[in-house]
Amino acid sequence: MPLIMTEEDFAQAAREKAKEKNVPFVLAVYMVLEECLRECLSTSGIQLACRQGCSACCYQMVTCTPLEFEVILRYVNSLTEDLKQRIIMGTNKVVGDWRRYHAKNPRFFVGTAEGVMKVHRDWNQRPCPFLSKEDGSCRIYPVRPIDCRTFTSLETCQRPILRAERFRFDPEKWVNNLILGESVRKTGVFAVTPLHHWISMVWPQGRKKPAESVHQ
Ligand code: SF4
Repeated sequence: MPLIMTEEDFAQAAREKAKEKNVPFVLAVYMVLEECLRECLSTSGIQLACRQGCSACCYQMVTCTPLEFEVILRYVNSLTEDLKQRIIMGTNKVVGDWRRYHAKNPRFFVGTAEGVMKVHRDWNQRPCPFLSKEDGSCRIYPVRPIDCRTFTSLETCQRPILRAERFRFDPEKWVNNLILGESVRKTGVFAVTPLHHWISMVWPQGRKKPAESVHQ
């Protein structure tokens, strides 16, 4: 990987990675981000407190762009029927709650910044739909969105999570804009939407099989 020192270097490395690996741009961004974080950790000597089994940051509202959710959807659809059903069943409760909440507050997430903050407050301390109740692992870990990938901390997080606990290396600060920019370019829409909402759109209640795409 070329030396990455600026946001533009990062974007270029992601574009090259997408071509080299023949993968969607979002997956290439995830790959380059992982490589950069390994590099940042080894050269800075900084130790993150994040450990396998800690799911403190999974108890808050996670949002993502259509491009990120498309990758999640493809991943879920590529799993065995058994794993896919486990994911779908695991999301039922929280997504049902979201449907009722959203029916009462349909415009919160497309309205004001205050509305968005309220949604985050109302859903703080609620588990992410993809969090496994059995072992606290992420059921979509290889394709988890940028929101999750960049929630790193120097101290072991206690719930409720405070956003101030978040520590980010520079590449972690760059990726949001990069993916959002690509998403707006590809879809023409500025959309950063709760995971709950994406799920409620692609696997409507009672449906056993997710849609193949967020555009269906
Ligand atoms: S997608 Fe995975 S990593 Fe992200 S909040 Fe949900 S369970 Fe946690």
